[in-house]
Amino acid sequence: MTDIRANLRARLDAAVGSDQVLTDPADMAPFLSDWRGRYHGHAAAVVRPGNTDQVAAVVRACADLTVPIVPQGGNTGQCGGATPDARGDAVVLSLVRLNRVRAVDPANATLTVEAGVPLAMVQQAAAAAGLMFPLSLAAEGSCTIGGNLSTNAGGHAVLRFGNTRELVLGIEVVLADGRIWDGLRSLRKDNTGYDLKQLFIGAEGTLGIVTAAVLKLYPAPKTRATALAALPDVAAAVRLLFALRQALGDRITGFELMSALSVALSRRHHPALPDPCPGSPWYVLLQIDDNASHSPIADELERALQAALESGIVRDATIAHSGEQARSLWALRENIAEAQRRDGPNIKHDISLPVSVIPGFLDEARAALTAALPGVRFVTFGHLGDGNLHYNLAAPEGIAPSAFLENTARANRIVHDLVARHGGSISAEHGIGQQKRDDLVRYKSAVEMDLMRTVKAALDPSGIFNPGKIFTTGA
Ligand SMILES: Cc1cc2nc3c(=O)[nH]c(=O)nc-3n(C[C@H](O)[C@H](O)[C@H](O)COP(=O)(O)OP(=O)(O)OC[C@H]3O[C@@H](n4cnc5c(N)ncnc54)[C@H](O)[C@@H]3O)c2cc1C
Repeated sequence: MTDIRANLRARLDAAVGSDQVLTDPADMAPFLSDWRGRYHGHAAAVVRPGNTDQVAAVVRACADLTVPIVPQGGNTGQCGGATPDARGDAVVLSLVRLNRVRAVDPANATLTVEAGVPLAMVQQAAAAAGLMFPLSLAAEGSCTIGGNLSTNAGGHAVLRFGNTRELVLGIEVVLADGRIWDGLRSLRKDNTGYDLKQLFIGAEGTLGIVTAAVLKLYPAPKTRATALAALPDVAAAVRLLFALRQALGDRITGFELMSALSVALSRRHHPALPDPCPGSPWYVLLQIDDNASHSPIADELERALQAALESGIVRDATIAHSGEQARSLWALRENIAEAQRRDGPNIKHDISLPVSVIPGFLDEARAALTAALPGVRFVTFGHLGDGNLHYNLAAPEGIAPSAFLENTARANRIVHDLVARHGGSISAEHGIGQQKRDDLVRYKSAVEMDLMRTVKAALDPSGIFNPGKIFTTGA
């Protein structure tokens, strides 16, 4: 063991320089826990390569000594995917020094960036080229594009632009034997065999190390309309989505559902936020974007909402008349997660379902959970346009959140069984990591698990990439 450690240290020092190999416990500490402090691990070292060749050298060293590698970007993931396990034999491979924008091609509407570039910087580089990278999420100042690819991040504009998977044209990956696959093609059409990049996107670092990517850019919207609609129930929200799609087409960028309790929580912790349509059980926050300057979308949205009001789908609605008003409507939505955190831990679910079955699912889930956990409070919100709900359960009034958390396994089973019965997914955006790996086996078919294990064994035969993530064992 000592020999391996000494040998490993020498190889890592040679690969990246000794100043980029951290072994002191205090230096390593920030890399060994996730941002929520839910997952903690140990490592033999944290390495911070500065370019793809150095990543490849680190992987070769670890492959030769069969040392596990835990890739890490901004460490903002929700499922413990970037946190090593307790064994202490892994190397945490931090990609944050791969932080260069390699190429901007406005005519081809593409941007080539290294894996460690923070998402906000990717957006800025696109804007500087007069274009837009549509991926946007609340962690964008800290998360990296490599982490976004590896978790196939969703965010606020999936309805119009798709998940990260849809925004990538090419990638560069370091494979388990240390070879570099240069798949940095910037083609919108390329039917030359298997689309290998898609294997690595959403793989949570279990198949290879993403070191760079070619991203698709879009014209930035020139006109935007934002509104908040108050609705009697979730079935009405689904009808509103259908009606607005008919009226406004694919210009709907955001369609965010919020229960009254979610909005109340947000406002309790941020009292300056508006309360434009009080007293409704459900709300939808809408954003419509148009590429034309001076587009009449605000009028079109108003007419569509007026029609929805007359047909009883909507109870009340308000349209933002300034950027400031739009921002404060969005703040109602953006602050829910933070407000929940301040209120105490919740039992959280990141689920997706066909939009059409969501009202029925919510009715069934409420009945089952109320029977099992009397007084449970439902903090339901999320990207309804994508069929993605953050279906969170808060402790009954008067019960300590920590005591309520003892019900987590039971609540998860009720929610996830129902999700599966309705044809949904137990992880819409956040991935599996170490959090949901047992559930994965329960809800995926044996055939699908077998295919996934076959891919893992083919690309990482020694199981060095992120063992214990997605799969219960390393392989
Ligand atoms: C406030 C907040 C809001 C969020 N909102 C959203 C949201 O709306 N939608 C959403 O989808 N997610 C959301 N997330 C989750 C998180 O931001 C995303 O999962 C993000 O994509 C992770 O990026 P990261 O760089 O922090 O990755 P990390 O957390 O460092 O890693 C995530 C996973 O990817 C692997 N990995 C990281 N980099 C690489 C690489 N270069 N090569 C191979 N594997 C790698 C890690 O091993 C790990 O398994 C949110 C998180 C926070 C804190």
